[in-house]
Amino acid sequence: MTTTILKAPTCTMVNLENLFIEMTAKNCNQRCKHCYIDFPITKNVKDFIQIETVQKTLSDTGNENIRCIYLTGAEPMTHPDFNKILRMCLKKTNVCIVTNGTFINEKKSRFLKKVQDESDNEIIFELSLAHYDENKNDEVRSRGSYRQVLHAIKHLIKYDFNPIITVMNYYKESHAVLHKNITDIIKSTGYDINEHSIQINEYFDKNKISEEPTLYDDINCDCKYGRTVTSNGIYTCMFLANDYRGRCGSDFTDYSRRAILESPYCNTCLKNKRQVFAINLSDFTH
Ligand code: SF4
Ligand code: SF4
Repeated sequence: MTTTILKAPTCTMVNLENLFIEMTAKNCNQRCKHCYIDFPITKNVKDFIQIETVQKTLSDTGNENIRCIYLTGAEPMTHPDFNKILRMCLKKTNVCIVTNGTFINEKKSRFLKKVQDESDNEIIFELSLAHYDENKNDEVRSRGSYRQVLHAIKHLIKYDFNPIITVMNYYKESHAVLHKNITDIIKSTGYDINEHSIQINEYFDKNKISEEPTLYDDINCDCKYGRTVTSNGIYTCMFLANDYRGRCGSDFTDYSRRAILESPYCNTCLKNKRQVFAINLSDFTH
């Protein structure tokens, strides 16, 4: 009898450059079709990360050269202590707010500019769109979300922020067409975006098994340069936050730098051939 041992590919973290803080796992005011989060039926789950957990994380990673802290969710701006946590993180490094943009208005943009001006570091925004056509966008995300994102952009640029627009290519369109049309839409808000301001990610349905051969060599995935902290511990990436397959430890005093690439989400990283959640900071910081 022969025994076959299946060996999953692995990825060892090179540097902890990107620290993702999951502010909440389940609180979001939208329900996008492409979202990787399995939402509960009831809304308003009280699962916000504790300020003490963030404080300890910042302290435990004191010797790491973290280039950017990402405040993520579900929707990070639903956290009741969002402003406090933002200020704490800004003391350490640049902060990227990964948001659907619905909580950003004139007043909030003015306030965030003031918070940034009090710091030596920068606030970066990642806003999400699904399509340049309003109906197609709202079909995937939620009714009104297209206009909300464009409003958020208008308010942010008024205060000299340069938001990044991330696009999940749900409709599997040509990148060139998507990029051009989204550029035109964004420019109509008055935002003089550059080519780096739009990040298109390929959509991969996590419930479908990939039939394509997978080449794991030299994959430039998020787990190679970052880790995610949640209320429940440390995980390889946002896709696997709170998932046993991505578990790395309970805190940053002792955690695994090795990720086993065994989940269907890893196909999304392989398809994109680059980090899906992290951004190239040099394109956005001054
Ligand atoms: S806005 Fe983000 S977190 Fe909320 S449902 Fe959409 S993709 Fe998921
Ligand atoms: S989903 Fe991507 S970032 Fe997460 S463990 Fe797999 S390859 Fe790494």
